[in-house]
Amino acid sequence: MLRYLRQIEVIGVENQKKLSNSSVLVIGAGGLGSAVITYLACAGVGKIGVSDGDLVEIHNLDRQFIHAGKIGIKKSKSAEMFIKTLNPEVEIEIYDDFGKDKSLRISKYDLVVCCVDTIEDRHKINEVCFKNKKPMIHAAISGFEGELAVFDFRNSGSPCYECIYPRNIHSEKNSVVSPIAGIVGSMQALEAIKLICNFETLNHLLRMDFRYMEFIKISISKRKDCPVCSKNL
Ligand SMILES: [Zn+2]
Repeated sequence: MLRYLRQIEVIGVENQKKLSNSSVLVIGAGGLGSAVITYLACAGVGKIGVSDGDLVEIHNLDRQFIHAGKIGIKKSKSAEMFIKTLNPEVEIEIYDDFGKDKSLRISKYDLVVCCVDTIEDRHKINEVCFKNKKPMIHAAISGFEGELAVFDFRNSGSPCYECIYPRNIHSEKNSVVSPIAGIVGSMQALEAIKLICNFETLNHLLRMDFRYMEFIKISISKRKDCPVCSKNL
């Protein structure tokens, strides 16, 4: 517990125990995932699953700092090596893909932090998290901008990703200014920690324009015609 002394001074011993008994699946070990994995491991989350089948490439390293010096290695394996050095107390499970039986994998974890970079994958993860009633912490980054939302599917009134972004209406860009991946990914890790400790989490869509440091909170609510979360209403 000495490792977490400064954090325990804020959240208390009981919440630190909740973190050590918790399990989080991080899908995507890229720019957001690097910050998420770092801070979940530092904070003492007991078990971290990392899912990513890509290999580390040189153009990843401007923001995917956990993969430094590991070009050509699978990102999941590289993440495992990084976590073992950062905090050997954390149990790690790695996967090369999102998995054929997504529900089975997600059901093993308390919550999912979604760090993928395509809208299509976010929709897939949203559906599986909703079906399994697992909270999903969503973030996306592009250019100088980022956004963050928590979909707590343990609560049947929670909206989902599809409520905000109905399929096929948004284009996507994967270019981003390096520190933004770290800032937004760290915010995802923080929301995961708050959720595990039963602190109130973000209940809006947070849109962040880092060029002008303008942050806005947008109310989100369940869409009655959402094909994912309103199917059985
Ligand atoms: Zn929905």
